[in-house]
Parts: sequence; C-alpha cells; structure tokens
Amino acid sequence: MENITKSEKAQSVVSSFKNKMMRQTILSFGVCVHCGMCTESCHYYLATEDPHMAPAYKADRVRALYKKYFDWTGRLLPKWVGAKDLENDDELKELMDIVFGSCTMCRRCTFNCPMGVDKALLMRTGRAILYEQGIAPQGVLDVAKDQWETGNQMGISDVDYLETIEWLNEELQAELDDPDAVIPLDKIGCNIVYAVNPRAIKYAPQSLLAAAKIFYAAGESWTMSSKGWDNTNFGLFSGDNKLGAHMGNLVFDSVVRLEGKMLVTSECGHGYRATAWESPNWAGRDLKFPIYNFLEIMHSYVSTDRIKLDKSLNPYKVTYHDPCNLGRSGGITEEPRYLLKQSVSSFQEMYPNRADNFCCTGGGGAMSMSEYSKRRLETAVVKANQLKETSADIVVTACHNCVDGLADLIKHYKLKMKVKLVGELVADALVIDKMYKGPSIKPLPITEKTILVIDDEPDVVTFLSTLFLDNGYKTQSATSYERAVESLEVNMPDLITLDLSLPGRNGLHIYHFLKTTEEYKNIPVVFVTGINPDMPGQLDSRKFIYENKLPKPEGYIEKPVDKDLLLMAIRKCLDLKDK
Ligand code: SF4
Ligand code: SF4
Repeated sequence: MENITKSEKAQSVVSSFKNKMMRQTILSFGVCVHCGMCTESCHYYLATEDPHMAPAYKADRVRALYKKYFDWTGRLLPKWVGAKDLENDDELKELMDIVFGSCTMCRRCTFNCPMGVDKALLMRTGRAILYEQGIAPQGVLDVAKDQWETGNQMGISDVDYLETIEWLNEELQAELDDPDAVIPLDKIGCNIVYAVNPRAIKYAPQSLLAAAKIFYAAGESWTMSSKGWDNTNFGLFSGDNKLGAHMGNLVFDSVVRLEGKMLVTSECGHGYRATAWESPNWAGRDLKFPIYNFLEIMHSYVSTDRIKLDKSLNPYKVTYHDPCNLGRSGGITEEPRYLLKQSVSSFQEMYPNRADNFCCTGGGGAMSMSEYSKRRLETAVVKANQLKETSADIVVTACHNCVDGLADLIKHYKLKMKVKLVGELVADALVIDKMYKGPSIKPLPITEKTILVIDDEPDVVTFLSTLFLDNGYKTQSATSYERAVESLEVNMPDLITLDLSLPGRNGLHIYHFLKTTEEYKNIPVVFVTGINPDMPGQLDSRKFIYENKLPKPEGYIEKPVDKDLLLMAIRKCLDLKDK
C-alpha cells in the first residue's frame, strides 16, 4: 500500500467497489428515499445530535459511489443525486472514519426503515473496499491477521488452548467433586460440538466452566475440538468474505471430522450470526448438521426439566441486554429471558428491548478499534441511561463482546452494576444432586507463590494484598515504575497484578520493561485496571489487548474487581505456568 500513490489507492478502492455489487446491496443502495425515519434509531446520532451521525447521511458516503457508477441519474445529474467519486487519501480516511468509526453495524436503523434499507450491509461494503486495500483500524487488521494465522482472534497457541482446558478440568472436578468430570476434547460421534469465543479461553474461563457444568448436569454428549474451535469471525466486521469463509470452514470441518450431530456456538452474538447465517454462504457449504446457540440448548434443558435450577441461589436483581446479532439479527430473544426468570430471584426488563434494543456500543468490532474509544464511550450514554433506569445489580447478556462493551461503559459512567453471561447465572443456579458443591471457588492450598501488586492506590493495594493473603499467597507491592523495578530486583514474584494507570511512567512502561527483559518476561501479568481512555494522558488497555505490539497479558480484570474472577485468573496463570 505504501508504494503506490494516493490516487492509485483511491482508484483501487473504487475498482473494488465495482466488484462488490450484488442484488442485496444494489437494493439497499437504490431505495433510500431520505425520509429520515431511521435517524433516531442510531445511538451515535442520539448521543451527539450531530446530523453527520444520522444513518442515512453515513450510508450516503458509500452510496455516493453507487450513484456515480451504477445509477443513470448519477451520470446525468451527479450533484443533484449526490453522486461522488473517491479521489484521495483524505477521502479514504474520512470514509474509514464513517464505516468503521461511526457505525457498529447494529442494524437498529435497518429495522426502522420502511424501505428495508440495510445500512449495516452498506457499511460493511464500505469496510470491505477499504480493508481490501489494507485501510482499516489497526486492531481490525491485527485481529484478522491472528485469525488467518492461528485460527483464532486472540492468537492463542495450541499449547495454551490445551493447557487451559486441562486446567479447567481440574477446576471442574473440584467444583463437582467428580474426578470423571471433564471438558471432552476431540471425542468422536458426540451430539454436540461446542465452539467458543477465544475470550472464554484467554480472559473469561469462568464462562467455559459454566457451560461445562451445564452440559455435565444435563448428561450431555458433547465435545470441543483441538482445532477450529473459535466461533468468532472478523470476516463479518472487516468485510472480508474470504476470512469469513476461512473461519467458518475451520469450525465446520471440526464438526465433520468429529462426526458431531450438531454445532453449538457459545454466548457470542456475532459468532452465532457469522457461523449460523453468514459463513455457510461465504464458504459455499451445504452443511449436513444444524447450528444452534448455547442459549437454545440451555433453554431446551430447563424447559424439559433435564436440568434443575434454584433461583434463590442468585438473589439479585438482573436485567438483560439483547446482543444485536442474537436479538435483532438472530431472533433469539425469549430463550435468555426464560432462562433468567428461572435462574435469578428478580428480573427487570430494560426498555427498549429485544429487536429494538440499543447496541452495547462495542459491536461491529468496535472494541478492537482503540482510535474510536472516545467516540464509542460518548455514544454509550444512550445505553448507560437504559441501564440506569433498571436499577439492576447485574446486567446479563449473551455475548462476550457485549460484556466488554458494557463493562467499559459501566466504568465510564460510574454505574454500580456487574456484567455476566446468561450461562454463568444458569450454572450458579444449578442443582445437581448431592455431589454438586455449588459455584464456590476451589479452596486454595497454602502456597509459596508470591504476587507482586503494582498499583498506586493504597486502598486497592490493601484490598488485593489482603485478598491474596487470605487465599494462601505471599504478597509484595509497589506503587510506581521505580518501586516495581526495585521490588523485582529484591524478590522475583511468581505473578504480577498491574494497574496501567500509574503516575509517571505508567503501567504500560512497566509491562514493556517486563516483557522485554529476559529474566522477567515469563512472569505472568494480570492487568487489574480501571483506566479511562477518555481522560487526557490516560491509556487504552484495549488498544493494548488488540494491537499486538507485545504479547498479550495473561489476564485482564476490570476494576471494581470481582474477587472470584480475579482469583480464578490468578490460579489459572499460576497453574499454567507450572505445567
Ligand atoms: S428510513 Fe430508510 S428510506 Fe428513510 S432515510 Fe433511513 S434508510 Fe433512507
Ligand atoms: S447500523 Fe446501528 S450504528 Fe450503524 S447507522 Fe444503523 S443504527 Fe447507527
């Protein structure tokens, strides 16, 4: 890309556009009557009241090309109908800002368009023509590269994947008090082949543990695959159908190889949509097995009494956030509500909901686009207001991406709410005869392991140190880069919890130092952070997670800290380090 001139780049984008026309896109390009009925559907517009954020205005920038090259009115009266070419680099950047940075492809506007214009499809077309020329946010390029090269969006190696499953087996056996309880791997001829979002392996193992408990309680015949296990698909967000087909094929091939009767995708909105509805087309596959989402499977277990739930085990007020790709685009709206009403003591609907729900603001790959974090959080005021009105303790969703998007906005708008997945609450409400020990965390043996807590807030240092001491670890602490280096010279810790938002040389400087220094680079690091990318001089931890300058941290926990999740992350990192 660097070797060609700007106009050549624009020319390539335009040529690419000409090749992307198909019936569906032509229809959506052709029928907008600019009635404006979609305007107030979009959280970008509602939050900013900026007319440039109106769906039709944004789509018009892509539509201008259609008018220029495919519509006769554009040839006769270009100015009148808004026909316009793409000429230079600045215009390409402007287009990137619109199609990647100003739309989460949530399709709420599509549902409110009387003409059925699918603006998310138009935005995806815009993304596709730019991405094909290497023009996209760095995070999107990096994640797509990871999916091509490693088969999963977090670049998790085969060894790390297998060791995490092995470690989770130990957790599962301890919680269920059953040495035979396992997450089956590569088992032939099972009823279900279960594919997951890599976040479940890397940063949220509790979600896979929850699924394993539910399958166990149901006596399900299920397996995971050692290859082709990622159900996410950046082909959907980048516009790259070839990547879409590649990721779909990896998962579909697993089901065929393992002779599974059905494919079940984990709680992941776009993963379900891409795998169930888009990838078979991108890959040109006529699948011989059905594809379900885990919500549908859990629903069938509970509604047929195959598993038993006790809602008093979750004495919380919860609300449900419909992920756009599951609710609006996937039609799965009642199953999660049914499950939550059986699993928790109090359920509060948020409004609007179901197909009319607002995006978590992290959709369309937005969480990987750190350059737009500020705008994303600004527009999140719409979602924050929705959440506030529920006064719920927990917002439950069915998508890992939504968990991240909601957690970010909850932190930004200082809401007192936790985020959980449906399966986690269902697992916590499970009643499994006498041998089930409930959702308690495995007691930790007294250990010689030392954790270095790096954080500048004394209250947090005290809280974390006490938590670790109470759970059998030794601790040391440091409040700055300099103190951390001194501490490392005196005593080598087994694990480090790291706050990124430190005065002076911040947490990323420390992380860089650790991962580029031979003697420290293998110490697992868990980010325990509450930084706000919106504040001047602050860092964006998500930029760090998605843009691979250094290896990803071994763990990532948002403040305010959930003790159980942090302990699980710590235990996972230490156990895997010992293997
Ligand atoms: S509602 Fe449909 S027809 Fe009306 S402006 Fe929006 S996209 Fe165009
Ligand atoms: S798809 Fe969603 S984010 Fe994009 S323009 Fe429509 S309402 Fe806005």
